[in-house]
Amino acid sequence: MASTKKAAAPKAATKASSKNGKDSDVGALSHLMSAEPSFYQTVEKNFSKAASATDYPKGLLDQIRVCNAVYMVRFPVRIGNDIEVFTGWRVQHSHHRLPTKGGIRYATHVTEDEVMALAALMTYKCAIVDVPFGGAKGGIQIDPKKYSEEVIERVTRRYTMELIKRNCIGPGVDVPAPDYGTSAREMAWIADTYQTVMPGQIDAIACITGKPLSQGGIAGRASATGRGVFFSIREALNGAENAKLFGMTPGLNDKRVIVQGLGNVGYWSAKFLQEGGATIVGICEMEGGIYDKNGLDVDEVFKHRKETGSILNFKNAKNVKRGNDVMTMDCDILVPAALENQLTASNAPNIKAKMIAEGANGPTTAEGEDILLKRGIHIIPDAYCNAGGVTVSYFEWLKNLSHVRFGRLGKKSDEASFTRIVTAIEQMTGASLPTDVRTHITQGADEADYVDSGLEETMIGSFYQIKDVYDTNKRVKDLRTASFVVAIDKVARSYMELGIFP
Ligand code: NAD
Repeated sequence: MASTKKAAAPKAATKASSKNGKDSDVGALSHLMSAEPSFYQTVEKNFSKAASATDYPKGLLDQIRVCNAVYMVRFPVRIGNDIEVFTGWRVQHSHHRLPTKGGIRYATHVTEDEVMALAALMTYKCAIVDVPFGGAKGGIQIDPKKYSEEVIERVTRRYTMELIKRNCIGPGVDVPAPDYGTSAREMAWIADTYQTVMPGQIDAIACITGKPLSQGGIAGRASATGRGVFFSIREALNGAENAKLFGMTPGLNDKRVIVQGLGNVGYWSAKFLQEGGATIVGICEMEGGIYDKNGLDVDEVFKHRKETGSILNFKNAKNVKRGNDVMTMDCDILVPAALENQLTASNAPNIKAKMIAEGANGPTTAEGEDILLKRGIHIIPDAYCNAGGVTVSYFEWLKNLSHVRFGRLGKKSDEASFTRIVTAIEQMTGASLPTDVRTHITQGADEADYVDSGLEETMIGSFYQIKDVYDTNKRVKDLRTASFVVAIDKVARSYMELGIFP
């Protein structure tokens, strides 16, 4: 941990949310001069649109909408012979279910507005996929690329101490996870710091999810968000009736995809879509984009970027200079998987895709969305589309609390049962199966199988909850509003069951 001896630590500022629900005013001030609404204002606008498609009383809707607590911290970290002061946040949007849950973001553009918006989305996301948590989010204003691993570790551990001091982290209180700029590495440091200062807490490791497998993580967490994005697109194109909404034919096989961002969500989304039969024709990153109508091999592009530091100059692909928008090039499905505010009033008129699948949180501004919808382009909304991450985080939390790996108790017993069934059939028919087929049929499920099955079940189930609202509620005109109505219904019910609201 950083020494604070050489210079006094600036006082950590802790701010509870205002009782009158004016949190948005604080975070949004810097955006008042800009034409596009801030991220938080966009989330609020989407919420209001959905709220007006429900019949809940205003007070209940206000309680669901506001951020319950906004914490800001400033803390010093020693770097060489100097100290640097970092600013971070943890926002707990809704305490209707505990613990609260949401990732931690490391980026220079992190602001209170952004963290509040992301925390609010987490509440709606958890409700949509029936994960029994309230929404939260954290972030530190830092460019992780500028610092050594050692400094990032110090920043992470110190931020964790700030969260512990404010009771903002713990298996039953608030459980962070990775987000933009963080990964399993940071989660391992956070778990280790928490366990160190909370000795004897038997469930301590459940204070955070997205950990490495060796540190109490779960198989399939790293790829979970991208896998969920894949399931959401596959379901949206499953059958003529679903596909019709997007003006497409069913199935993935003839579909061309462009992905923005080749980080965790973008890479896995692209990889699963390619494995599912789609052709990845375009990928863009910070340095620019590449486009090949014959298809890009996702793993090859990833390897090329690792080796050369850029996705540009990939074999046979056309380079698209930074600033020229790859997202407006020819495709059927666009997966923005980088950051918020990417599809705006300025590029929405030029988008060629028929479907937008929001891998990132908040990639479409309210103005951008209005234009897209008017043009008949439908959006699979973030709060559903990228909910695979929190779904598998929930499984990890359950695994940590039960202190046993999924599949450990039943796998061999299942295999013995399947073997008895196959043997009986073989004896009855006189036929005998080839060894590889027999092994395949008699295999019991391990952790990865359970995680995948739970994720698929969740993404399919939630898709039809949203589709049902879209089809039956006359006041709902788009899938995002439908997803918010699903979320509002579930959170409202949990308050009403408490008897607080009529
Ligand atoms: P990441 O840091 O792993 O990857 C993001 C990638 O986007 C980086 O490679 C970055 O260089 C690239 N990028 C940034 N700005 C860009 C731009 N303007 N054009 C093209 N590329 C750009 O982050 P991530 O975890 O993949 O998160 C991406 C988004 O998905 C965020 O909005 C995050 O909140 C959301 N999300 C993440 C998870 C998760 O499990 N990691 C879960 C749900 C939602």
